[in-house]
Amino acid sequence: MENFRVRFAPSPTGKLHIGNARTAMFNYLLSRKYHGKFVLRIEDTDFERSTKESEISILQDLKWLGLEWDEGPDTEGPYKPYRQSDRFDIYNKFTQQLISQGDAYKCFCSAEDIEVMRQECIKENKQPRYNGKCRNLSKEEIEAKEKSGLKPSIRFKVEEGVNIVVNDLLRGKIEFNSSNIGGDFIIVRSDNVPVYNYIVVIDDDLMKITHVLRGEDHLSNTPKQILIAKKLSLNIPQYAHHALILGPDRAKLSKRHGITSVANYRDEGYLSEALFNYLSLLGWSSETGEEIFTKDELISQIDISRIGKSAAVFDFKKLRWINGIYIRNYDLDKLLTLIKPFLNKDYDISNLSDVWLKDVLEAIRGNLEVLSDIKEWFPIFYNETINYDDDCKDIIKQDINQTLINSLLSNIEKVDTLNHDSYNIIMKAVMEETQLKGKKLFMPVRVLITGKTKGVDLDKTMELIGKKRLIARIKSFRVNG
Ligand code: GLU
Repeated sequence: MENFRVRFAPSPTGKLHIGNARTAMFNYLLSRKYHGKFVLRIEDTDFERSTKESEISILQDLKWLGLEWDEGPDTEGPYKPYRQSDRFDIYNKFTQQLISQGDAYKCFCSAEDIEVMRQECIKENKQPRYNGKCRNLSKEEIEAKEKSGLKPSIRFKVEEGVNIVVNDLLRGKIEFNSSNIGGDFIIVRSDNVPVYNYIVVIDDDLMKITHVLRGEDHLSNTPKQILIAKKLSLNIPQYAHHALILGPDRAKLSKRHGITSVANYRDEGYLSEALFNYLSLLGWSSETGEEIFTKDELISQIDISRIGKSAAVFDFKKLRWINGIYIRNYDLDKLLTLIKPFLNKDYDISNLSDVWLKDVLEAIRGNLEVLSDIKEWFPIFYNETINYDDDCKDIIKQDINQTLINSLLSNIEKVDTLNHDSYNIIMKAVMEETQLKGKKLFMPVRVLITGKTKGVDLDKTMELIGKKRLIARIKSFRVNG
């Protein structure tokens, strides 16, 4: 597609929400697929709720997810600036144009006036709408009000009975009647700050955005945006409104369902590639039904007409499962770098070699679904003594006895060092001495030395724990157990 340009336009009013990250991701993937541009625009004109801190964290989270933008607030670009609060002069000119064309006007209604109108509509069983009170103020009336210190907002004049057609790439033709969109609406507030619904139209045109892919929660804004674009002779982009992410109860995904911000997922130990992969499966499916994709595979397979038509339910378990797959297959050096901050929280690892840490990680990564799971497995290799999981109780009671402990200890003491071969020698000897075999032998040994009923291969586990620590651990069991 020629000159394909899409944008992600977050309002910096909090951390990057998983649903918005998904919108950004679809836009990003499409921009790469069609060799276009991915623009990041910061929509920060809601001054009460926007913060610099949020902007910084949103940029950071997008980068972490691998959603690099071509033009944005921190890059040079042909249509800069890319932060709406830096573009007020531009919007002002358009506002003046609308006023002089007679398509917008100054409105002096107070919040109380608006509330009265609302109540009247409700009484008459009608949708709340502005009743046009200030539509026809004379020049003199306006001057007098301004002189008295009243600050006007600017309202856009909505012609009644106009059919507005949104040709949505996902939903087809959607028609709105201009009589049902709440009457004349505010485009610039009385503090001189223009509102999102208005300036989004200007920016999309000036930034040459060809396709607007966003959540269906914006669909009701679209007719207003089209009306404005028409009055200003601005370009109307191709719209596509995707369905939203739902929680398991099919309500819009929110904090009460679980963690919802990208930063929280990172902090829990999700890999950005896994989150990216999982988000791509929400509301989009490959033709082959495959579920694990690299970014490049997604780029080649993505198709705008198959994105998020129906609502997708967020499946926390599936995300964990996918994350586990990524952990198992990740480059080990990189995985070690990512997991160190999680280890540092609970352990002093400064004296441990990367070689040993990597061996441990390689051994246990099959058991990790998120990086923070490491705290459950690392003590097996690191701690002198260990805690025993609840499901070990019966085995401890029934299958671990002094004979087994003694036999194990004496055979471990006989070997120079622990490795696959010496492990086989030890276990063979223990088997002969105790007459235990199969599960009756291996399960109690596993429980004794790891405190768990499942996990890593025993030979590897013993090797990584090391002879000295292993003996100390078994002895301490004899004393306490
Ligand atoms: N700033 C809007 C939001 O964060 C996005 C608007 C749009 O995509 O048109 O919801």
